[in-house]
Amino acid sequence: TISPLIAGNWKMNGLRASLEEISALASLLTTGEAPRALVVVCPPATILHAVASSGATSGILAGGQDCHPAASGAHTGDISAGMLADAGAQFVIVGHSERRTQHGETDELVRAKAEAAMGAGLKPIICVGETESERDSGEAESVVARQLAGSIPDAGGQHEVIVAYEPVWAIGTGRTPTNEEIARMHASIRQHLVERFGEPGQTTRILYGGSMKPMNAREILSLENVNGGLVGGASLLAKDFYTIISAV
Ligand code: 13P
Repeated sequence: TISPLIAGNWKMNGLRASLEEISALASLLTTGEAPRALVVVCPPATILHAVASSGATSGILAGGQDCHPAASGAHTGDISAGMLADAGAQFVIVGHSERRTQHGETDELVRAKAEAAMGAGLKPIICVGETESERDSGEAESVVARQLAGSIPDAGGQHEVIVAYEPVWAIGTGRTPTNEEIARMHASIRQHLVERFGEPGQTTRILYGGSMKPMNAREILSLENVNGGLVGGASLLAKDFYTIISAV
């Protein structure tokens, strides 16, 4: 069995004042029933260290939202995986669709970032997902298969990686695929992982992301091969995020 993981991606939201949400989440997690999921928060890098320190006692783990493929060097404005680890991160999101579209990131670059993450001892959360037109033209599974093949490093069998399926058209839209569509895609991702990595592919976590909310989390998280969620908007408020965590 795979222990589920719920990760919050704060994207470019969150100032130091948002640490109050971490305190609120921490008290919900410690006063309520013990969570059945690993809880990860990926805040902006400016408050990553504070999130990692203030969340530590309540089991909240921290993650970065992106990293550079190189360990250090002349890359103004970028952050290395080692720096994220140094700030207290244990995870890092790579290949989010917003990075792929807004920064032109290719599968090759995403793979290099995932390799850098592994090298720094971080667990990469590798994102894949089709656009609406790709789904409409029946290419969703082939697009995702190509992204998986190109974005997951060959070491994905020896080093823990997490895959996040995030249909681009479901992100921030309030729309989600049907349960059948999610289950079918997750089964196809599982098949890919097992074919490529064998045994370890059976236990690689596959998260669903895209308009996961308190209202739909229980249903989605109960689907076969859905081993957790990557939550955007609904992770910003401790109360909503805790409801999703509790839905596992
Ligand atoms: P929303 O939950 O806001 O749709 O965002 C999902 C996402 O992109 C998480 O990485």
